[in-house]
Amino acid sequence: MPKNLIYEGKAKRLYTTDNTEEFLQEFKDDATAFNGLKKDKIPHKGELNNQISSIIFEHLSKEGIPTHFIRRVSGTEMLVKKVSIIKAEVVCRNVAAGSLVKKLGFTEGIELDPPIVEFYLKSDELGDPLFTDDHILALGIAMREELDIIRDFTFRINDILKKFFLSRGIRLVDFKLEFGRDMNGKVILADEISPDTCRLWDLATGKKLDKDRFRFDLGDVEAAYKEIMERVS
Ligand code: UDP
Repeated sequence: MPKNLIYEGKAKRLYTTDNTEEFLQEFKDDATAFNGLKKDKIPHKGELNNQISSIIFEHLSKEGIPTHFIRRVSGTEMLVKKVSIIKAEVVCRNVAAGSLVKKLGFTEGIELDPPIVEFYLKSDELGDPLFTDDHILALGIAMREELDIIRDFTFRINDILKKFFLSRGIRLVDFKLEFGRDMNGKVILADEISPDTCRLWDLATGKKLDKDRFRFDLGDVEAAYKEIMERVS
């Protein structure tokens, strides 16, 4: 399969394939945090995130959520539908953690019911600032109807994933989603869902089983990703 690199991000590479409607998404072992200030490699992360994301995308598809996922094609690669990414990262929170604690003074660990949905502008240059619906519309990043669809999908995905993880002894604290427009302009879920993009706490012990282990040098990073992989399999 001839492939040309068309985009390289911090944790993934995207290649063209001989099918103009499909891309190859490759997961890397590279890990970055704090807007690229902290960098390292986590052994086997690419493979683990590819497997975990594939399982989660398959589960969401079965539950009626349209995603870019087609199939896993190798250890670190999945075939995905070509989309143009909507430049807003969507964060959904069930429990206060991370920037909610740091920037807004929430107490870590308190339940958020209903969940909080936030949008962040996808821009390394500007440091991914928090922004509102009105900013998204004014910047022409998405239309009102698309924003409504994105919010609706996000709440549905949250309900599905909360149950999915709970039945595996994991508390879904928060997660980040990215959406794109497919060849027909339809909004579908894209990117990845993995311990890089979710906060996942062990239900019994509260142990962090996600990228926070890397961010805050908590140790056993690879083991935590492996633990998630085993529980979702
Ligand atoms: N997140 C992400 N990519 C980002 C920023 C956040 O995947 O560029 C995820 C992060 O892993 C967490 C959730 O979104 O699961 C909320 O992150 P938060 O806003 O608390 O930011 P952080 O604490 O990572 O600065």
